[in-house]
Amino acid sequence: MSEVLVLNSTYEALNVTTFQRAVKLLFAGKAEMLHGRDRMLASPTLAMRMPSIIRMLYYIRRPMQKVALTKKNVLIRDDHACQYCGTRGERLMTVDHVMPKSRGGESTWENLVCACMRCNNRKNNRSPQEANMTLLRKPRQPKYIPWIQIKRNTLPDEWGKFLFLYNVSIDERVEA
Ligand SMILES: [Zn+2]
Repeated sequence: MSEVLVLNSTYEALNVTTFQRAVKLLFAGKAEMLHGRDRMLASPTLAMRMPSIIRMLYYIRRPMQKVALTKKNVLIRDDHACQYCGTRGERLMTVDHVMPKSRGGESTWENLVCACMRCNNRKNNRSPQEANMTLLRKPRQPKYIPWIQIKRNTLPDEWGKFLFLYNVSIDERVEA
């Protein structure tokens, strides 16, 4: 893993980038290295540690964005977990209308949930009650979608203290 955590000048986590892009930012004088890896960059003209965390030297302004209602964002809100059986998966997850469209169910944050194909097929054109299926939690509009999605098992230790906001589960973030 050679991804690099980018911090704003205020030390807030901004995003995750490739080491190539991070090195460019360092050489352009736009960022400083906060933490390097043990590995060195292999280049005949420079000796430098592979960056792990860099910090921008100027402030990157990020407007608060309203979370767009998209299939992808519904899946992110639900942490790719089927809201009926709890199965998790990055692939093959569908977005289910809790109250089916054919029955007047709208496409809103409150009526859309992540569902595995099995549950979606099983539920079919029925309400959860009719199908005798219970939602794990009430779907609601998320306050925000985290910018940074990191597979928790690949998180380098040194990133931890900058990601306190992000390395909790999405459930906790949405409920907060
Ligand atoms: Zn399911």
